[in-house]
Amino acid sequence: MIRALVVGFATTLRHMFKPKVTVNYPHEKVPMFPKYRGKQVLMRDENGLEKCVACGLCAVACPADAIYLEAEENDGTVQAGPRYAKIYQIHKTRCIFCGFCEEACPVSAIFMGKDYELAVYSKDDFIWDKADLLVGAEVPKA
Ligand code: SF4
Ligand code: SF4
Repeated sequence: MIRALVVGFATTLRHMFKPKVTVNYPHEKVPMFPKYRGKQVLMRDENGLEKCVACGLCAVACPADAIYLEAEENDGTVQAGPRYAKIYQIHKTRCIFCGFCEEACPVSAIFMGKDYELAVYSKDDFIWDKADLLVGAEVPKA
């Protein structure tokens, strides 16, 4: 019994002087590892236009059938090419964060981001749309 107490106090003392590994979350955040795959990001080009050309390859590559998109003819104000994704959605509860969508994209329009704060209060927020995914988005919520 006494031996167990001594061992216990010794363990406590030993760890009291080691650097702490906990952080005061959510006020403090730890950086994610470089290869961490969090919430996706839809990119813009150097002119601020959407990079996605609505080819649908990401949706085809997705093993969880989590991506839904609708293509629209483009007048050059949204995207540099002839088509853009009028609707682009990722279903959060289906996504397994495998990164296949990023690998499949021929124009580097979608990237796995670092955001890991994915909890929501409403089932309506289970779907990310362009307003959630697009960098610098000024897209009205669908
Ligand atoms: S990360 Fe994987 S599961 Fe999630 S949307 Fe991309 S391809 Fe689908
Ligand atoms: S994100 Fe990439 S792969 Fe997916 S529809 Fe847009 S251009 Fe195609």
